[in-house]
Amino acid sequence: MREVVIVGGGQAGYQTAASLRTEGFEGSITLIGDEPHAPYQRPPLSKAFVLGKQDREKILLRPEVFYRERGIRLVGGETVASIDRVSRRVRLESGAEICFDTLVLAVGARNRKLPVPGAELDGVCYLRTLSEAVELKQRLEAARNIVVIGGGFIGLEIAASARILGKPVTVLEALPRLMARVVAPVVSEFFRAAHVARGVEVVLNAQVRELRGEAGKVREVILADGRVLASDLVIVGIGIVPNTELASAAGLPVVLGGISVDEFLRAGDANIFAIGDCAEYHNVFAGARVRLESVQNAVDHAVCVARTIAGKPVPYHAAPWFWSDQFDIRLQMAGLGTGHDRTVVRGNIESGKFSVFYFRGGRLCSVDSVNRPADHLAARKLLASGTDLTPEQAADENVSIKTT
Ligand code: FAD
Repeated sequence: MREVVIVGGGQAGYQTAASLRTEGFEGSITLIGDEPHAPYQRPPLSKAFVLGKQDREKILLRPEVFYRERGIRLVGGETVASIDRVSRRVRLESGAEICFDTLVLAVGARNRKLPVPGAELDGVCYLRTLSEAVELKQRLEAARNIVVIGGGFIGLEIAASARILGKPVTVLEALPRLMARVVAPVVSEFFRAAHVARGVEVVLNAQVRELRGEAGKVREVILADGRVLASDLVIVGIGIVPNTELASAAGLPVVLGGISVDEFLRAGDANIFAIGDCAEYHNVFAGARVRLESVQNAVDHAVCVARTIAGKPVPYHAAPWFWSDQFDIRLQMAGLGTGHDRTVVRGNIESGKFSVFYFRGGRLCSVDSVNRPADHLAARKLLASGTDLTPEQAADENVSIKTT
C-alpha cells in the first residue's frame, strides 16, 4: 500500500488529505501537525474568533470523525525533526519514525519577530495560531491602550476587531501607506480613512525604536522620532517567515525564502512536494516566481498535488484570489498586481464601493474590489479565461465586465 505523509496540519495539509480521498487515493495518509489542535481555519482568528462570534469548534476545518471515516491518521502535537530522503522516512522530535512513499511539506510559516529592545516583554503578542488567538482574546478584554505594529492585513484586521470591542487602538505602519506591498495608493488611502473614521489612530512612517516596560510588562512604545505611546497590549503583525529549515536540511531547494517547486509543486525530488505558504513557484498570472500567503493558494496547491499523487497530474494553474475583512468593509483581490503600470477605478470611492483594475503592458493582471463582490467574481472569471478588457472599458460602469 502506498504511504503518503503530510507534514503540517494547516489549511494546505488538511486539504491534501481530504482531496487525496476524493481523488480516489486508497493508500495510507498520515497528517502530522505540531499544533495541539485538529486542522482549523486561520482567517477567523483575527475577526470572528477574537470577537467571540465563533468558538474553537466552529473554526475547525472538519470534526475529528471526518478523518476517522476516511482513514486519515491525524498525528497532532508532534514536530517533524528531519527527513531521510534515501530511506524515505521522517523522524519526529519524539523519536518516532514514519515511512513514506510520497511526502507533502505543508509547513506554512511563523510570525516575524519584532527586532527591537523590549520585544520580549509580557503583553507583546503575535497572531498566527489558535493558541495565540486564545491568549490574545483574553488580553484584548483587559487591555486599556492597544498599539498594533504593522499596517498590513493582519494588523488592520486585529485593529478593527479591537475597535469593535471598544478599545483605543493605534496602528503604526513603517511605510508611507497601509498594505503598501499589495494594493494601489488609492486603496491604501481608502482604508486609512475608513479606520480613522471608526476611531483607529493611524501613524504612517512610524519606526518603532524600543518597547519599555515596568515589572516585565509592556507599558510604552517609543518611536524613532521620540514619540512615546502608552500601551499595555502591543500586537505585532509585521509579516511571516516561511518554515523552510526542514526542507533545506534535507537538501531540497530553498529560494527567495520559500521551498522552490516546479509546475507540479515538486520540491526538487520526485517524491516530495511543497505547498501553501511555504512554497515558492512560477505563477503564470504574475509571470514570475512568487510565494503567496492565502487560503486560495493553500487549497488549490493541495488539490493539484492530490491529483498528481492519485495519478492524474496537471500542472498548477490557478488564478490567485484573496480577501480581508476590516470592520464592515470587505476587500477582495483577484490576480496579482506585481509589475503593474496602470490602474483605473470603477465605481465611486466616496460611496465605499469601488474596484481598482491593474494593468500590466495593457493587459488586465489584477482587480481589488471594495464592497463590490460582483466585480470580484467577474474579475476572477476574466483573469481565468484571459479575456481582454481595456482600461477604458474597466472604468466605464456602462460596460459589463461579466464574461457569461
Ligand atoms: P499554515 O496554516 O501555516 O499551516 C502549517 C502548519 O504546519 C502549522 O500548523 C505549523 O505549525 C505546522 N508545522 C510547521 N512545521 C512543522 C513540522 N516540522 N512538523 C509538524 N508541523 C509543522 N488568508 C486569506 O486568504 N484570507 C484571509 O482573510 C486570511 N486571514 C488570515 C488571518 C490570520 C490571523 C492569519 C494568521 C492568516 C490569515 N490568512 C488569510 C492566511 C491563511 O490563513 C494562510 O495563507 C493559510 O493558512 C496557509 O496555509 P498553510 O497550510 O500553507 O500554512
